Amino acid sequence: MNRRPTSRRSALRLGGTALAAAGAPVLGVPAPGPSAEAAGRRPAPGSPGLGDPLFPTLGNGGYQVAHYDLTFDFTPVTYDYTGRVVLHARAQQDLSAFNLDTDGHTIDSVTVDGRAAGWALSPGGSGQELTVTPARPLRRSDAFTVTVRHHGNGKAPRSGLTGWRFGSDGGFACAAQASRADTFFPCNDHPSDKATWTFHLSAPEGYVAAANGELLRRTRRADGSTVWHFALRERMATELVGIAVVRGTYLYGSSHRGLPLRHIVPRGQEDRYRPVVDRTADHLAWLEAKFGRYPFSVYGCHIYDGHSDALENQTLSLFSTDWFTPDAAGRPRYETTMVHELVHQWYGDSVTPADWQQAWLNEGPAVHYAALYGEERGWSVLDDKMRAAYAGLDKIRAQDGPPGRPRELGGTNIYDGGALVLYALRLRIGDKRFARVMRLWPERFKDRNVTSEDFIRHAVRVTGDRSLHGFLRDWLFGAVNPPMPGRPDWRADT
Ligand SMILES: [Zn+2]
Repeated sequence: MNRRPTSRRSALRLGGTALAAAGAPVLGVPAPGPSAEAAGRRPAPGSPGLGDPLFPTLGNGGYQVAHYDLTFDFTPVTYDYTGRVVLHARAQQDLSAFNLDTDGHTIDSVTVDGRAAGWALSPGGSGQELTVTPARPLRRSDAFTVTVRHHGNGKAPRSGLTGWRFGSDGGFACAAQASRADTFFPCNDHPSDKATWTFHLSAPEGYVAAANGELLRRTRRADGSTVWHFALRERMATELVGIAVVRGTYLYGSSHRGLPLRHIVPRGQEDRYRPVVDRTADHLAWLEAKFGRYPFSVYGCHIYDGHSDALENQTLSLFSTDWFTPDAAGRPRYETTMVHELVHQWYGDSVTPADWQQAWLNEGPAVHYAALYGEERGWSVLDDKMRAAYAGLDKIRAQDGPPGRPRELGGTNIYDGGALVLYALRLRIGDKRFARVMRLWPERFKDRNVTSEDFIRHAVRVTGDRSLHGFLRDWLFGAVNPPMPGRPDWRADT
């Protein structure tokens, strides 16, 4: 995520505060009888949240999703949709019931392994909880399939903030980070539960559909609409879903080593945005030299006037049309934002925080390398930026928590503060060893979830320098800035 200076920080405060609008629980098919205690074990409900430090009710316990198959039938301008989501999951305990996160959907039916299941909606922390009671309890390690059919309207009131972004074309794009994938479809909405994905999105004539991953095929329907089928083979957290139905044009290209690029820009503005998206190939080459191969099979930029910021949706970063204005001197400094979201494809998307308190592991590298790119282009000086961040960070630590233990998402402590941790590490161990730490991280933890402790151990392992345990812990978790290595004159504002 990258915020424009004008955007309100509160837009990122997505969890915790919202109360569900639904008062009384909504009930579905009656729950099954008491044949429950199969094999002498006592199945129990999965927990309604994973206990994330910043979003305690996000996600659900008792199972992990292996694959989502998402069908979404959206009508532009009216914003009505019908959806079907199929979750292929595995039980991690004997389950009598389990939850999905949801918000703003009318649930039409729920089945588990093809059999009607009981269900109920109740208020949750940042949306609602959909509690599913299968006809028969699930045993630990069982693979099972949940199918939820639902419908609704994109603009309908929700109990929490929405992930929907509406453009002037009557279409939409999805900006789900951090906790709002559940405003599009019921899911296990926590970054620790990564899955592979297939998508089937309909778009009427004049519109195109977009989603993460590769376009497999398109099928025409009798009413003139087209269903677009996409597959994402690498695992992805729900927060990075990038579905959209827009009046857009696909622009194609490839990286210097032949990686397919596909971008979506507003229809009629192809000439304006073609040179912008064509810069992606150079950004990829610059970052692949630092981090190794790009971790997915396709990449691109979705430029849309419905969004106000920039967001690293996996394989398809989402940008506001407002980003792409040269500065007063005519320089394309917006490219640092393109680099920021591209860094996230390694740092955040492929390697994903285990919970939201680890978010500096996404934003620190994104800020650091975007600033480094700006420095190499002669637009800014990283050391100046870091000196200013150092001056302000003590106050921010006191107010919002240190970079490794933020009290909420979206603050400077995670962004510039996270970059400052990396800058301190770089000055301490030198450019060469720092480059090695940062290159080996996405290689070693590709497709996995990570914590700050993993990063500390990784830095120690790569450098052989055990003193980094204490060094990084002070920077990540301390109440005040430690001294900046090699910069004895740097002071915190008082
Ligand atoms: Zn970011």
